[in-house]
Amino acid sequence: MEMKKCPHCGANIAADAERCYVCKQWISDGNIVTSDKPQEFLPVLLFEYFWGVFGIHRFFTGNIPIGVAQLLTFGGCGIWAYIDFIMICFNKFKDAQGRLLRNYSPNIGITAFVISLIPFVLAIFLVIAVFMAVFLAEVK
Ligand SMILES: [Zn+2]
Repeated sequence: MEMKKCPHCGANIAADAERCYVCKQWISDGNIVTSDKPQEFLPVLLFEYFWGVFGIHRFFTGNIPIGVAQLLTFGGCGIWAYIDFIMICFNKFKDAQGRLLRNYSPNIGITAFVISLIPFVLAIFLVIAVFMAVFLAEVK
């Protein structure tokens, strides 16, 4: 069977395929169907990073019901929003039509993920510092 590369995600797909079975993007004559492209990775990542608890990234990628659910629950108290953030960072996030985002960059994704861990690491150090301070105060 003749194969071609998906112009969206690079997967090998049948030469006559109209839709990529990996990223679900519609394809016409080896090009992404321009009238209906998924959103780009970077804007979705930024929307999620700054306004993820309001579900803005879900509205932006066409998933209105989940967007409303996240808006009303503050992104599932932040946990749901953070899971979405990790999915975006590692190119697992899909839009309302089940498609991956365009122009994914692993470097940006992994960097954003590492940056997002900094507050957690600082919080852990803070807890350890407080415990040590209390412990040392009791030893004297
Ligand atoms: Zn694809």
